[in-house]
Amino acid sequence: MPQFDPNDTLGAGRPVHSQRASSILSPTSGFIAEAGFTHSLTPARNCLFGCTYCYVPTLRVFGGLKPADWQRWGRHTTIKTNAAELLRRQLKPAQRIYCSPLVDPYQPAEAQARLMPDLLECLCRQPPAVFVLQTRGALILRDLEQLLELSRRTRLRVSFSVTTDCDEVRRLYEPHCDPIQERLRVISRLSASGIAVYCTLAPLLPCDPVALAEMALEVTSHGVIADPLHNREGKPRGATTRPEGLRVSEANGYEEWHRSDFQARVISSIRSRVEAAGRQFGEGPAGFRMLAA
Ligand code: SF4
Repeated sequence: MPQFDPNDTLGAGRPVHSQRASSILSPTSGFIAEAGFTHSLTPARNCLFGCTYCYVPTLRVFGGLKPADWQRWGRHTTIKTNAAELLRRQLKPAQRIYCSPLVDPYQPAEAQARLMPDLLECLCRQPPAVFVLQTRGALILRDLEQLLELSRRTRLRVSFSVTTDCDEVRRLYEPHCDPIQERLRVISRLSASGIAVYCTLAPLLPCDPVALAEMALEVTSHGVIADPLHNREGKPRGATTRPEGLRVSEANGYEEWHRSDFQARVISSIRSRVEAAGRQFGEGPAGFRMLAA
């Protein structure tokens, strides 16, 4: 059982609650199913990284959230304390698991909650066909030894989010996340250790697209995935950019980064640079398919 203080607030009044869940693996639908994953694993509800653009709170109850989650996104989180116990019962060899479309498994609360070491231990004992960790948290390095062990037993991929090449932009949209240089350092360390790491340029924040592609090429040896900020023009239904992210763009003159025609040009620049280097490039679900294969 993870040991942590349930009254801890991680500073600035951001409480970490705990709750027993009834299930830990969910059959996939939408974007993640289209990419080829059979199940998602979500160890907590609400994410203390609290990115301004995060799509998850726009899913509301369809993302398994409570009103307090979408109304106060990023300002509290609820850890599923029995996650490992449930996972032990639900794992099957054919599963292709994505962790997670609804929370970063290495969000700040994980430093004390320590759910991931127990989950990785379960995965090592009963490995699924594919296990993907989607994160932007430097904390992942804490579990490097277990990740290496898991990579010997299944197709483990780490999909590491790098959203821009400019840390000032990062601070505007995702102030609670690790700086870009720190993420690149973590990706390099994981790669050098032999973990299959993919740079996921998603969602694409204002950036120099070629410089961002070059950063990704430098720190990984696999394909590069990109996905622009979701908008209602290109995606009439389902999860989309939350209003806080749109407000940051409006306040800083970055509205075009939400327009499909502009996004297509950005994607095209990244694609050209990545493919010129002889590496695979994929956008949206087609890109995430590289992870599930
Ligand atoms: S890290 Fe991911 S899940 Fe967490 S707030 Fe940011 S975009 Fe949302």
